[in-house]
Amino acid sequence: MADIIKLLPDHVANQIAAGEVVQRPASVVKELLENAIDAGATSIKLIVKDAGKTLIQIIDDGKGMSDTDARMSFERHATSKITTADDLFNLNTKGFRGEALASIAAVAHVDLKTRPSGVEVGSHIEIEGSTINLQEVCACPKGTSLSVKNLFFNIPARRNFLKSNNVELRHIIDEFQRVALAHPAISFTMYHNEGELFRLHSGNLKQRIVAIFGGKTNEKLVPVQEETDILTIGGFVVKPEFSKKTRGEQFFFVNDRFIKSPYLNHAVTAAFDGLLPDKARASYFLYLKVDPRTIDINIHPTKTEIKFDDEHALYAMLRSTIKHSLGQFSITPVLDFNRDSELDTPYEYKNKGVVTPKIEVDRTFNPFENVGVPKRGVQRSEFEKVDTSGWEKMYEGIQQSHGIASTITIEKEVSTPDMFESGMNDSEEDFAFAKANKNPDAQQSLEATTYQLTNKYIVSTIKSGMVVIDQHRAHQRVLYEEFLRNITVKESVSQQLLFPLTLTYTTTEFELLEELKEGLENTGFLFGTISGDIVEICGIPTSITESQVPVVIEQLLSDLENEVPDSSFSQTDTLAKSMAKSLAIRGGEYLNARSREHLVNSLFACKEPNRSPLGKTTFITMTGEELERKFK
Ligand code: ADP
Ligand code: MG
Repeated sequence: MADIIKLLPDHVANQIAAGEVVQRPASVVKELLENAIDAGATSIKLIVKDAGKTLIQIIDDGKGMSDTDARMSFERHATSKITTADDLFNLNTKGFRGEALASIAAVAHVDLKTRPSGVEVGSHIEIEGSTINLQEVCACPKGTSLSVKNLFFNIPARRNFLKSNNVELRHIIDEFQRVALAHPAISFTMYHNEGELFRLHSGNLKQRIVAIFGGKTNEKLVPVQEETDILTIGGFVVKPEFSKKTRGEQFFFVNDRFIKSPYLNHAVTAAFDGLLPDKARASYFLYLKVDPRTIDINIHPTKTEIKFDDEHALYAMLRSTIKHSLGQFSITPVLDFNRDSELDTPYEYKNKGVVTPKIEVDRTFNPFENVGVPKRGVQRSEFEKVDTSGWEKMYEGIQQSHGIASTITIEKEVSTPDMFESGMNDSEEDFAFAKANKNPDAQQSLEATTYQLTNKYIVSTIKSGMVVIDQHRAHQRVLYEEFLRNITVKESVSQQLLFPLTLTYTTTEFELLEELKEGLENTGFLFGTISGDIVEICGIPTSITESQVPVVIEQLLSDLENEVPDSSFSQTDTLAKSMAKSLAIRGGEYLNARSREHLVNSLFACKEPNRSPLGKTTFITMTGEELERKFK
């Protein structure tokens, strides 16, 4: 048999390697930024066109490359950063594999200009798909400028696989921010399609965080500081009251390298235990310094995961340090982080909602006996009770003559077990509703057709038996179809705000909002000036209240980031879904007869009443036969 094994040609091997290193424009940005930092740059400029699909250029003022190095840098496994295998365990640089430039040059048009200091002329190299087309001397500033054009020009399948410009740009911004946060002393600028997105001056860490995430961030940060033999911790956590519901800014840097670590994230979350509002996530910018010999960053090709020798110790230290910081800045009620856990809120009370106090009315009380004169020895609370009931009693006649049971109204508003207490008031409302609808029969029919169970389900009769509706999911469906209609038909009603709302957003959020602006306007939002990181909102949809606006938008941004929408269809859909999700009435909310009836009717007027926009069952039915079977 003839020999059939042969070595792959270099350009093929490089393309294969590129698959691992270069997944999308953002990977190129990351590699090039890291090279500039390893080269000792003090100022780095990133220029991007069409979300990196047309151009990614990085200009640095670092040490540059000699003529030979410039040529060598595109060879695979060509690196100036390690020489022996031992160096791998003592890394102080970002790069070490010597693969990035070779991989990038295999799948793009690359143009390099570089000059070390002390040399008069620089080198200029052009490479297309691993083939060198040009190498000449050139006049250029000290440092390196590397342009990557038409990424994946020779691998159409990968090029087509790229997401929309918005999505790719978001990934680029993420990488840019991570690198910029890790190196506050270096100044960075970033441009996209001629527009300046970031201008970050050299400064300290706090200034860098504020420059990226907006002026208001300053007051939200709590410093974290600890030094032990095996670990130095620095950085900031965000005060619990500013934590975000669905997405937090969570940044870990280990030896100035951004990493993801669910384990350490858990340590931080544990330190916030009991301080975060329900479902909120801690935000943090934490910088760990460890001996490079105690970590292994080689386990993941994109190097965002890391393995520590002594994870447990790090966990414990991180947790107690953050607890201590939160305590020192009087954020936790107890200053000592070694506090007695006996003193903590019992677990089972932690997640319970606040119980609204009930007003108790003593109907047998006679106000003319000792009104407001506490007897000697009578406790204060008793005195107050006496006073209140007396007050109620005095108005009893008036209530009756007007037919308005105000005592019962109070009870209804504060109570949860419905049926009993609120029945009377419901029919009051139903009656008004019926009159407004000029339907004299409505009163009877309404009273009889819907009930609320455990403040979560609406029960109603249908011809064949009964139907049980999940109120939250049903309302989601109703709102979803309504928003979808408004966005596509573009005929929503807006309420003007007397004082425009100003909200601050990060650059990423801002980019997203710009994309969504039209869709949001179609639902009834009116935008005023949008500048810097501030968005002014002058009008809102009639279906929401002013205080709900930040929540709705935050939910929306988070949904969009997670769903990674590609087409305008899915964006409209996400917008409608997300708004429906944040605005739908929740389980646990009392609904009066009129609202119940309205919800049931609206649900069954929907195009797809049986599923919530998230695909969950909205109602179940039970037929008369099924009931009969149960009674057998
Ligand atoms: P690595 O960073 O893993 O060494 P790269 O392929 O990213 O591998 O780069 C190869 C080499 O090219 C680097 O080791 C470095 O010597 C040189 N190099 C790359 N970018 C720059 C730059 N911006 N300035 C100076 N030298 C650079
Ligand atoms: Mg590199």
